Amino acid sequence: MKKKRVAILGSTGSIGLNALKVIERLEDHFEVVTLSAFNNVDTLVGQIKKFWPRNVALSSERIPELRRLFGKRVKFFDVAEDLPHLASAKEVDVVILAVTGAAALGPFLSAAQAGKVIAPANKEALVMAGDVIVSEARRAGASIVPVDSEQSAIFQCLAGQDRAFLKKVHLTASGGALRKVAASRHDRLSVREILRHPRWRMGAKITVDSATLMNKGFEVIEAMRLFGLSVEEVNVVIHPEAIIHSMVEMVDGALLAQLGLPDMRLPIQYALTYPQRLPTGLRPLDLTEFKSLTFEKPDTGKFPALALAYYAARKGGTLPAVLNAADEVAVEAFLKGRIRFTDIFRIAEKVVMAHKTVSSASLEDIRYADACARFNAVAAIKVIE
Ligand code: MG
Repeated sequence: MKKKRVAILGSTGSIGLNALKVIERLEDHFEVVTLSAFNNVDTLVGQIKKFWPRNVALSSERIPELRRLFGKRVKFFDVAEDLPHLASAKEVDVVILAVTGAAALGPFLSAAQAGKVIAPANKEALVMAGDVIVSEARRAGASIVPVDSEQSAIFQCLAGQDRAFLKKVHLTASGGALRKVAASRHDRLSVREILRHPRWRMGAKITVDSATLMNKGFEVIEAMRLFGLSVEEVNVVIHPEAIIHSMVEMVDGALLAQLGLPDMRLPIQYALTYPQRLPTGLRPLDLTEFKSLTFEKPDTGKFPALALAYYAARKGGTLPAVLNAADEVAVEAFLKGRIRFTDIFRIAEKVVMAHKTVSSASLEDIRYADACARFNAVAAIKVIE
């Protein structure tokens, strides 16, 4: 069998590390041709020595030292400029898109236009410009096989099903770090408390977004784009055990679910092997270890970010991009200790409500709205400080 040639954009984050673990186990099936990282040079150097990719992208000021280390065996690129080029390169079959934030938009689009298999772990690009990305992918024959565990679950449940019979999807949410923390305490929570997620170990940005439930709100929009659904067709249910990764409801009322222990290596490997499957070596789920699986409705009074995301999803156009940008800026300020946890929502809400939505937005409209929202979020943070 010909090896699939894989580009991992964002190779030193938690998705990238897990993707490399998967590939290391399945080295007869996959070959790493491209890696990219931002500043985590030590980890990147270790990865280069192990996988010998042809192309590596990183911050331009760190390139000279790596060139000295690896000479001509590796080609180096500027991570701020060259990801779209690397994502669409001829020598790549599958692009694992694990770059955080809006930076994923460029490489996502160019991989779609080049007809690649794209395995996005990043949801921001789909939230911002999902309509544009999906239509470009369709036109060029690219397939998008999501890595986000919920979207992967839906994708797996729908495999072999006729979409005409799909009624709605149910996204499960573990509820984040604050499910049992009273809302009255939220404004005093420290960064450390927020970063202690009960079920998934992930990057800082997404862990904060899980605590506010903004992450789930983004996933609502992501699911709408990936599966062509209206906002009414995407429901969120809190499921603290995080065993059911999401469900689809068919028109006859049948609920189909995908279950497993929470481990990102499964959805990553599925995206890599799709439409086939291979053993993962992971511990299989033993349902008898669980006394019960529980479910509850999300409390949008306590987690207003979810309601705000639904509002942006319903309005569509440029508004999801504005929400994404404001949240990204606000979460960064929170992680730096500049604002309180509850200010994240306040800032996002303020920026969203002030925006005049452009419907059926072009990429240019979206990029402009994104830039304005960042500017407004920074201004709103300055008022608080
Ligand atoms: Mg998720």
